Amino acid sequence: MHNYMDMHTQQEKASILLIYTGGTIGMIENPETGVLESFNFQHLKDNMPELKKLGYSVATIQFDPPMDSSEMGPDSWMKIVKIIADNYQKYDGFVVLHGTDTMSYTASALSFMLENLSKPVILTGSQLPIGMLRTDGKENLITAIEIAAAKENGLPLVPEVCIFFENDLLRGNRTSKINADNFNAFRSYNYPALAHAGIYIKYDLPQVYHPVSRKPLKPHYLLDRNIAILKLFPGISPQVVESILNIPGLKGVVMETFGSGNAPCEEWFLNMLKEAVDRGIVIVNVTQCRAGSVEMHRYETGHKLLEAGVTSGFDSTTESAVTKLMFLFGHGLTPDEVKEHMNCSLIGEVSIPETFRP
Ligand code: ASP
Repeated sequence: MHNYMDMHTQQEKASILLIYTGGTIGMIENPETGVLESFNFQHLKDNMPELKKLGYSVATIQFDPPMDSSEMGPDSWMKIVKIIADNYQKYDGFVVLHGTDTMSYTASALSFMLENLSKPVILTGSQLPIGMLRTDGKENLITAIEIAAAKENGLPLVPEVCIFFENDLLRGNRTSKINADNFNAFRSYNYPALAHAGIYIKYDLPQVYHPVSRKPLKPHYLLDRNIAILKLFPGISPQVVESILNIPGLKGVVMETFGSGNAPCEEWFLNMLKEAVDRGIVIVNVTQCRAGSVEMHRYETGHKLLEAGVTSGFDSTTESAVTKLMFLFGHGLTPDEVKEHMNCSLIGEVSIPETFRP
């Protein structure tokens, strides 16, 4: 790789706000049931004397009670946005400790909700609680803080919403959790890592998103939950498709298709999609493949979807497409306006081929 910068020389005293929302990192084992339960932040700090050694000023704020990330959603995303917005001027960067299960959804949502972000917001967590000997939590937390504090010429190196996990710093809205057991739990298949942490933290700076304008942070709190995911599988029945597309109040659907955006050509299926699109429902086509992009022009099966009025999600992750739809409909955009915004990148969440750009 080229254009890497070795930033280990950076040593200004930065101030970081650590937001503990919950997740395994701060959990302890219930001695009676053996189940992992959330504990309070003091437990985490007691198990991390290293925090003091870092040389940064680290303030903390915690969700009360801490949450398992499988219980998080728009309300908790708004809570995180509010904490960041209320404290934006006081800190150089933000580290959000979060359960891994839905971390990619939160990271995607935050990337849309924090407009004009010019400071790092780094999400991390762990697969093993911080009090356990083999925990991955300490390294993840310490490196996330270092990244949130990293500056060059007084400017933050990574002014984005990111996930740092194991060794890689990834753009948040490009990530998915891909492993329930391994420490290396996240991947960004369609966008390169922004940094790699080995002996040094090596940044791939040309990949980092930099705000185009210097406008002040604009936090957003409007999200619309009337979104569904329709995952196709061979043999999917008309009843399943019909019941999803007829959910009362439904505004957007993320449809997970095969390969480069293909789906069955059966008439009942295409008619149901077309009828839903005619009712103003935005159907976004993303692929079930881990990597690669939807290209509806490539095969007849994909082309038929285009004709039915389905919108391409290109190489978006499902997590990013779902939260982007929530965000766009939350702001009262019409179906046509939503489609238009799905065809452009708001904050680096999707790669749009040249031929589609206006
Ligand atoms: N269930 C936990 C959560 O997502 C798992 C974790 O933190 O890794 O909150």
